[in-house]
Amino acid sequence: MSSLLDKISEHREELIVLLTAERGGTLAQARWEIDLVTKALGPAVLQMKLIEEEQDVQHIGHITKRYTPIGVVGAISPWNLPVFLSFTKILPALLAGNTVVLKPSPFTPLTVLRIADYVHELLPPGVLNVVTGGDDLGPWITSHPGINLITFTGSTFTGKRVLESAAATLKRVTLELGGNDPGIVLSDAEPEKIAQALFDSMFLLCGQGCISLKRLYVHEDIYSRVIEALVAIASATKVGDGFDPHSRLGPVQNQLQYKRLQSVWDEIKRSGAKVLFRGDVPTNTEGLFFPVTLLDNPSDDASFVTQEVFGPIRSIFKYKNLDEAIRRANNTSYGLGASVWGSDPVQLRAVASQLEAGTVWINQHAIRNPLVPASAYKESGLGVEFGPEGLESFCNLQVIATKQ
Ligand code: NAD
Repeated sequence: MSSLLDKISEHREELIVLLTAERGGTLAQARWEIDLVTKALGPAVLQMKLIEEEQDVQHIGHITKRYTPIGVVGAISPWNLPVFLSFTKILPALLAGNTVVLKPSPFTPLTVLRIADYVHELLPPGVLNVVTGGDDLGPWITSHPGINLITFTGSTFTGKRVLESAAATLKRVTLELGGNDPGIVLSDAEPEKIAQALFDSMFLLCGQGCISLKRLYVHEDIYSRVIEALVAIASATKVGDGFDPHSRLGPVQNQLQYKRLQSVWDEIKRSGAKVLFRGDVPTNTEGLFFPVTLLDNPSDDASFVTQEVFGPIRSIFKYKNLDEAIRRANNTSYGLGASVWGSDPVQLRAVASQLEAGTVWINQHAIRNPLVPASAYKESGLGVEFGPEGLESFCNLQVIATKQ
């Protein structure tokens, strides 16, 4: 496993260029993603262990609790973080003793295929297999009787189909799905101090992040200062060619995604929502550049508020009453992440514990560490990724009970 990570590091520069070309985004984002695999995810997985436990228990006798490999793992990944989200599946699956059939997104198969080429010589034949093609490959994998577990990252819409298809052979299933993460800014927050972190988590990967902050609720006492600070940062953010080192945000990933964003924008215009900021995009290139867009208090019922917007459009809401803000933040079928921002640790903790999401951040958002489990509430997923709990999901749990 560690030589597999070394192999990726050895080809780092080439992989960064390839990833930028196929995923969009910027060189800096691609560099961050490759390093995330080799310097954070890989070492974290390598230090995890599944430990057998022994215990004497009344009536049943001496108990050994152990983990066994599940067999063949079918891994299906999306296009927004194609390398990281493939390796969050490959590495723990292999560590637990399984073999893997990976299906990357048809929009972004190249970098993982290249890595598979580089690491093949390190693994016995058939241990890691990458199959590519259109979306129709997905159901072949999820219904295949020779595959024992499906680990899927993608939209909630597709996740439901995966679960349905996997039910026929009762496969184990882990689903990491869409999100519509809220953030609540309390009245004692310091707008100028938190604005950059808010902006970065809203426009992470050009807004194409599952745990990107998508709905921001700001107390009325500091609303104008928060939006002023966000607009100032947005104005200074260059959207452009991902290979240009001055670009902070690159193009959106594919034509379908771009068209979806355009129809969201048409809906915004039809709804009459107030546009706080709409940035510039380069006009002299063919890239799918979409302007950074900030909305001021759109209706809670608007489709671009209730649905996940996977691109650089974000809504900001003014609130007066905190209970009301918590209710609106939770009023969603998603439950991936959420955050609360402010100064009083007691109040921050009290608000955090009322938010319905698998991860609730305090004074940060969209920060992950592979040693810490990631799970979801509601329609944002099923099961756990990362941490020892995530590793366990790649195994059968077996109890051996000896009569005493
Ligand atoms: P998607 O659901 O369209 O596709 C994901 C993968 O599923 C692709 O490889 C695709 O080919 C495959 N697929 C399509 N139809 C299938 C089927 N019927 N059966 C099996 N597989 C099928 O998602 P996307 O557009 O690639 O990615 C964006 C979505 O992923 C967003 O909703 C985002 O929030 C979500 N996402 C979630 C996480 C997370 O950790 N929770 C991380 C990244 C992205």
